[in-house]
Amino acid sequence: MSLQKIIDFNRPHQFVEEQEYIHQAYQNGKISGDGIFSKKCQAILEQETGSLKVVLSTSCTHALEMSALLLDLKPGDEVIIPAFTFVSTVNAFVLRGATPVFIDCHPDTLNLDETLLESKITPQTRAIITMHYSGVACEMNRILEIAARHHIPVIEDNAHGLFGKYQGKPLGSFGCMATQSFHETKNISCGEGGALVINDPSLIERAEILREKGTDRSRFFRGMVDKYTWVDVGSSYILSEILAAVLFAHLEHRKEIQDKRTTTWNRYASELRDWASESGVRLPIVPDGCEHPAHIFYMLLPSLTVRQSMMEYLKQNGVICVFHYQPLHLSTMGRKLGGKPGDCPVTEDVSDRLLRLPIFYDLSDEDQNIVIKLIKDYKFD
Ligand SMILES: *Cc1c(COP(=O)(O)O)cnc(C)c1O
Repeated sequence: MSLQKIIDFNRPHQFVEEQEYIHQAYQNGKISGDGIFSKKCQAILEQETGSLKVVLSTSCTHALEMSALLLDLKPGDEVIIPAFTFVSTVNAFVLRGATPVFIDCHPDTLNLDETLLESKITPQTRAIITMHYSGVACEMNRILEIAARHHIPVIEDNAHGLFGKYQGKPLGSFGCMATQSFHETKNISCGEGGALVINDPSLIERAEILREKGTDRSRFFRGMVDKYTWVDVGSSYILSEILAAVLFAHLEHRKEIQDKRTTTWNRYASELRDWASESGVRLPIVPDGCEHPAHIFYMLLPSLTVRQSMMEYLKQNGVICVFHYQPLHLSTMGRKLGGKPGDCPVTEDVSDRLLRLPIFYDLSDEDQNIVIKLIKDYKFD
């Protein structure tokens, strides 16, 4: 029996400061949210996203839910959402009773296809949700121009895009709101966590009320009211200070994290380039003007059969590679909402052929060499 080494798709990294910061949170006498570490994280995120205001949340899913509440969406409203994204991007709006209108992705970037956007807009459209797949920006100039002409707000699901840029401007700074994720699988993580990024000043106060169970507790703490009370709908969306302490340690190391991931990403791109073009495999396309944060490295294989066989072959050899989103309009829930095969042909095609390679802080050069060699040795039949 051989003890085969496993190269995971993702592994969380623990920084030594995490323990110390958690200890400090206890010493500060505050482990619920909005303490010193939360404020430090928010300040870094405001700077990195170039936004007006960032509030930490329990997840990106919850930040998306907050964004739907802040837009006052109601049954009958339509929200344009990519068919190629995570379920939370759509659930947040469906929870408010809104109708998702799925839009296909662009074959190059796998982002919302801006050339189809205008055709999806109706008098009921209340929001356009963009998701920067793998942190490569959507065509924001075009999207914002169309949205402005129809007076429709844009929200960026920026779960992949922290530290990414579009024409020199940080992702997260384009929509009236954007959302971040600090789930274990993201570049910056505290296990489970997120943030709502706000760029429209008129939304800030209500966002603070919403996450404080609908009370004006934040204003009370700033001394602006002498008691706090229930003023609006709300829920419990605040990240614990213990998780903010962990998050702060990761954010302090953001440069190293990004440097390592970028090195890994660039090595895959350069070392697989010739093999890919000879084998009919498509590697990520990064348009001019997009700086991406090395969140995902994917390959588009020639067919579903090859994708499954390559994934199985890599697994047999100890390397865990994973596919990604299944078309939302063809999911059980998507079909209940009227989705049919052929609605979003590019999404349907790429979701069958996509395979993501291991990329994480502790992935060693030797392990990456193993992954690259195995891929190049794969026998297409
Ligand atoms: C990870 C992810 C989410 C959800 O993040 P959570 O913090 O786990 O709620 C939402 N949207 C996209 C695009 C994601 O990748």
